[in-house]
Amino acid sequence: MYQRAILHLDMDAFFASVEIKKNSAFAGLPLLVGGSGGRGVVTSCSYEARRFGIHAGMPMAIALRRCPDARTVRGDYESYEQHSAMVTDIIGEEGPVFEKASIDEFYVDMTGMDRHVGCVKWSGELRQRIMRETGLPISAGLATNKLVSKVRAGEAKPNGSGWVAEGAERTFLSPLPVRKIPSIGAVTARKLSLMGIRRAGTLSQVPVPLLEREFGRMGREFHRRANGIDHRPVVPYSERKSFSSESTFQSDTIDVQFLLRKLRHLTAQLAFDLRKAGKLTARVTVKIRYTDFNTYTRARRIDYTAHDQQLLPLAETLFRDLFTRRQCIRLIGVRFDLLAAGHTQLDLFNDTQENSRLLLAMDRVRKRFGKDAIATA
Ligand SMILES: [Mg+2]
Repeated sequence: MYQRAILHLDMDAFFASVEIKKNSAFAGLPLLVGGSGGRGVVTSCSYEARRFGIHAGMPMAIALRRCPDARTVRGDYESYEQHSAMVTDIIGEEGPVFEKASIDEFYVDMTGMDRHVGCVKWSGELRQRIMRETGLPISAGLATNKLVSKVRAGEAKPNGSGWVAEGAERTFLSPLPVRKIPSIGAVTARKLSLMGIRRAGTLSQVPVPLLEREFGRMGREFHRRANGIDHRPVVPYSERKSFSSESTFQSDTIDVQFLLRKLRHLTAQLAFDLRKAGKLTARVTVKIRYTDFNTYTRARRIDYTAHDQQLLPLAETLFRDLFTRRQCIRLIGVRFDLLAAGHTQLDLFNDTQENSRLLLAMDRVRKRFGKDAIATA
């Protein structure tokens, strides 16, 4: 059916939906996410709030004037990143090449899949799985390119899906206001309107030279888009699955104090890399290799963390469990995996304020002077 098959997935009112999931008392109410101070801006709002003409990017003060009863919440970027990572993981597990276009938008290239499963059926199942496992609404559009699939998903919102058959791209876009075409903003739309061009279908028929005269280089692009033409590829998403580091000794050793120092150093460096990448780990693995090259590993699952406070003692425990043979060791290694996006934050951990401050201060020093600036005691 499709030469190219591109699925666009877009979470509905993403931040607001996460807040509603976290606190069901918000369900069905106009909810605004964003700073509520004098200069706060709405970063996301529920569909109930949109009925009042409120939209993301609007000053909070104006939004509250339009809907004084709206509930407001400051927003918690970390939990949005975590939910985004959940969706990313599900899409990644399902297989094909995909692109993460933003925290809540994805393109999946399903070209060639049709013969096996059927794109429409497969994308429907993927969407259902995301909603089931994350508890969040998401809309989907399937078409032959990124542009049309994105517009189709937008038309399906909230919480819907649809597809545009190959060859029907222009017909699908034609009745839509030009504003619906990505890259045509309010200013361009106003200008087009003054030229008598309000719908994509009209825009698709305007001679390119005329558009170029008005909009420069973008004129041709608007024309192509209005005609549903888009050759942009899906850019594969790649993300580190683990952080690991190991060290081989110049001469094999049985000196436990030396080995523990080495282990703490490796673990602290790796934890620093983890924090710098904005990640948390849920599994620590320690590896040792004896003189005879026999290699052993031990791993333990933990709650998501990037704190030295939790990682250093755990690595040490794993090492002591492993190091049972009275034999020299030639290599020691540490690995963190089962990663999630997230930043070490005070309120997330049962930790004293002093410890967290110390940790942050150490990271600042490391950032300025390099990783080796601090040897952990
Ligand atoms: Mg969205």
